[in-house]
Amino acid sequence: MTYISFCTHSTMRSQTIWRSFGLLQLQRQSISYRKPITYRALQTASPIATSRPIPNFAFAFDIDGVLLRASKPIPGAADSLALLKEQGIPFILLTNGGGKHETERVAEISEKLGVPLDATDIVQSHSPFAELVKGSDESNALEHKCVLVAGGDGDNCRRVAEQYGFKNVVTPADILMAYPAVWPFSKNFSDYYKKFARPLPTPINFKDPSKSLKIDAVFVFNDPRDWALDTQVIMDLLLSSQGRMGTLSKKNGRFDLPNHGYQQDGQPHLYFSNPDLWWAAAYPLPRLGQGGFREALEGVWAATTGGPSKGIELKKTVIGKPYQFTYEFAERQLLQNRLRTFGSSANFTPLENVYMVGDNPESDIRGANSYRSEIGSSWHSILVRTGVYSGGEPAWIPQTIADDVHKGVQWALKRSSWPAA
Ligand SMILES: [Mg+2]
Repeated sequence: MTYISFCTHSTMRSQTIWRSFGLLQLQRQSISYRKPITYRALQTASPIATSRPIPNFAFAFDIDGVLLRASKPIPGAADSLALLKEQGIPFILLTNGGGKHETERVAEISEKLGVPLDATDIVQSHSPFAELVKGSDESNALEHKCVLVAGGDGDNCRRVAEQYGFKNVVTPADILMAYPAVWPFSKNFSDYYKKFARPLPTPINFKDPSKSLKIDAVFVFNDPRDWALDTQVIMDLLLSSQGRMGTLSKKNGRFDLPNHGYQQDGQPHLYFSNPDLWWAAAYPLPRLGQGGFREALEGVWAATTGGPSKGIELKKTVIGKPYQFTYEFAERQLLQNRLRTFGSSANFTPLENVYMVGDNPESDIRGANSYRSEIGSSWHSILVRTGVYSGGEPAWIPQTIADDVHKGVQWALKRSSWPAA
């Protein structure tokens, strides 16, 4: 995975996800459901009169295991967010969760915590996928291409993708209901699938592959509910010719081609939105996350192709914490929110420090420690004990360990010499 860099004064360019994904030629424009911040916007914003000092810091909070656990508020979480709101201190919720549109997700969190939030206050694992709808230009825009969306309850993720602007979204359930033989062991779940499956835009044509259903990108938006079906359908596409269902590429296994011919025949690119292997849920021990599904798929891929021991990789793009791109996306959103709150006055107090409060050393802490901001902000990691982390020396060492989010916020306010601490 290649990383992108943040916009700079010299280039005035907007950030775009396809640069991170290494897709085609980059263009210096970006279209998104939320417009990326630019320094030009910062410089031309109107000042907003305020008697308050503008903080040179902000917060990023993980959700599961920090603010909520099994959908229940963690003590101190609501008070902490309310205090920051009251003090005008910007924050963003930065989660590897997803499966719902940002508007719906913040409405639920808002209700649970009793703190008003809006869609710009959250970055979910799949939020950056919205930037692929328009792409950098028409040649790589996925808006009207057929994309497969896997994961999530029912077809919630299809509907999120449609809200992002994807016009032609297929789910594994659509394929199963049209062709039950594609994965015979899922027929027991057909009552579930038929509630939301839709007719395929094009049938699978075994006689004339050029007319068969063609998938141009595969997105794992959220944790798959039926790992087996999703694994089968995704493998079918990764081994296909040109992403056409019902085909098998003749290039697979050819030693004279890069990657032994695998993924060298116009197959759809594979995107994962969340690398977390484990996450904190209601069960006392951590549960397998979307990263678990990815590892399982990698295992099937390696067993099928020969895998890394034969020099064959599974080409894919993974976003979400701890990856640089997701932190850049979040920092952009924080800057945009600061601009909206403080107007151009925000220019006189640059964002210098961001406190990342998380429960998962592998994602939250690793990401904050590794992040390199091109606006020069420093990210400080605060590990809490209310989620995945259960004590001992964490795999990634945070700047501090706090019992809970309230203690973590107090530590940060004190560190920044904020009067309310
Ligand atoms: Mg967490």
